[in-house]
Amino acid sequence: MQPLILPVLLASFWTVCTGSADWCYQSQFTCEHQCNAPAMWDHASSNCAGSVQSPINIVTRKTLKDERLTHFEFKNYKQIITSRVKNNGHSVQVEIPHLSSISGGGLPNTYKAVQFHLHWGNDGGPGSEHTIDGEQYPMELHIVHMKHHYTDLKTALSDPEGVAVLGFFYEMSNSENQKYDPLISSLQKITATNTNTSLLSTSLAQLIPSETNLTSYYRYKGSLTTPPCTEAVIWTVFENPIPLSMNQLKAFSELRFADKKQMVDNFRPIQRLNGRQVFWSGSAMTLASSVLLVSAITMALGMAQPN
Ligand SMILES: [Zn+2]
Repeated sequence: MQPLILPVLLASFWTVCTGSADWCYQSQFTCEHQCNAPAMWDHASSNCAGSVQSPINIVTRKTLKDERLTHFEFKNYKQIITSRVKNNGHSVQVEIPHLSSISGGGLPNTYKAVQFHLHWGNDGGPGSEHTIDGEQYPMELHIVHMKHHYTDLKTALSDPEGVAVLGFFYEMSNSENQKYDPLISSLQKITATNTNTSLLSTSLAQLIPSETNLTSYYRYKGSLTTPPCTEAVIWTVFENPIPLSMNQLKAFSELRFADKKQMVDNFRPIQRLNGRQVFWSGSAMTLASSVLLVSAITMALGMAQPN
């Protein structure tokens, strides 16, 4: 009887290990719950083992300044989003009516907003997906856009430049960011996976820094950061972070994954660059400060002239 025990044990272990085609974050993986953690995402979708994956660590001294990375034009970003906010088991996500769009910013086309969602750490700890010179921010917002002539994201993902994602970092601030009150107060109603509630008076413009603080950003070609990891994304990662108080950041950790564990550390680890170049728009000189600079130079030149 004795020699039979090991094969039986192995067989049951094998079932547990390979039984699920679903994917999870590393924070959900335990001996009791062996789901497909990020290193195994290629079991959920082979794209995840591709060579143009996201997120990445951006090494600022290796970025290349690109004059074509001009300012963005945001259309209908101030419109109030009449939509619902959902706990989808991986993040909190808001589907956006396809009325807001972006152009400029070195993008090859106009892209319309489809949805936004976030990635965060544990109670305000490191949680962004992209990192800058190795620094991981507490949270990251992704506003997902698709080329304007598509009507659904699935079709857009079959175009290598079909999707444009805007990524924004968060930083801890001493005061509350009241523009986030409607979104954050909705979280307590959607702690369980697959629950949703109405998003109260929020616009995209309200969630991101003011336009004058969006001129400095990084650009590279990558992928979705969750399965199916499709390599169809033009990434824009903005330098200026969005301030939130510690309590506001902690509110996201109250959500629950489908396995009822706390929804924390829902970020994918950084991926290999594989020779990709990251471009940089240049330093954040606002229009106001360039006017000041020009007038200062004019004044200095004027003073230097002989009378
Ligand atoms: Zn994302």
